[in-house]
Amino acid sequence: FVLGRNLWKAYGARPVLRGVDFSVARGEVVVVMGPSGSGKSTLLRMVNHLETIDQGAILVDGEYVGYRQVGETMIPMRDLATARAQARIGMVFQHFNLFEHLSALENIMEAPVHVHGVAPAEARRTAMRLLRMVGLGNHADHLPHRLSGGQQQRVAIARALAISPRLMLFDEPTSALDPELVGEVLAVIRRLAEMGMTMLVVTHEVRFAREVADRVIFMDEGVVVEEGTPDEVLGAPRHERTQRFLRMVE
Ligand code: ATP
Ligand code: MG
Repeated sequence: FVLGRNLWKAYGARPVLRGVDFSVARGEVVVVMGPSGSGKSTLLRMVNHLETIDQGAILVDGEYVGYRQVGETMIPMRDLATARAQARIGMVFQHFNLFEHLSALENIMEAPVHVHGVAPAEARRTAMRLLRMVGLGNHADHLPHRLSGGQQQRVAIARALAISPRLMLFDEPTSALDPELVGEVLAVIRRLAEMGMTMLVVTHEVRFAREVADRVIFMDEGVVVEEGTPDEVLGAPRHERTQRFLRMVE
């Protein structure tokens, strides 16, 4: 469903991705792990048109990221915001970036109404359904500052789901949370996995990865060091760098 081939990216002279290949099948949950600076966020941001691709290509659902296909011709899309809106990819970040002046419900309605032209009444119904799904049916009118970090992140997940995404990207969704709030957010992601959502998740939560991931990709210094089932990569890592990393986070 997602296919990345030979991806390269540098910031100035500094290489960040050096020939990364990866894939996510439809309905699959792939967890990406790796030390700070290994290029995980850059990879996710490329998939969602938040970062240009220096070299290589990413296909999502048969369409090249960053290009519009007209007949046989590939036309680069200069307007990344439009490309992003059309791609229908949901993304959740470490910091929830909710609109502080909008209620939980309004946060979720924002993109469907203002980007995708959904009628407000319908967007409201969808938003309520999503709020209930993430366990916040009673918090629809709350402003973000009245919610806990875990609740805010669950609103952010509901907001990402409101555009009916074909793919969900999570970039360390629990790293900014107090430990006691991590579980409630992971439970929502686990639920999405059970519903068959295709997901690419950057996280250091090893137990979560073991239970939910179909596949784990371990990156270091801009390359994929190893990948396989959670049992392979987390249970019996072959590479010294993976072993060292797991000793650190576990
Ligand atoms: P972390 O676990 O800390 O989130 P990461 O694996 O997500 O790390 P990236 O955020 O992808 O790593 O960054 C990879 C490298 O690229 C880092 O060294 C970072 O400093 C650098 N980098 C990322 N974004 C930019 C940018 N916009 N300009 C310059 N350098 C950048
Ligand atoms: Mg990152």
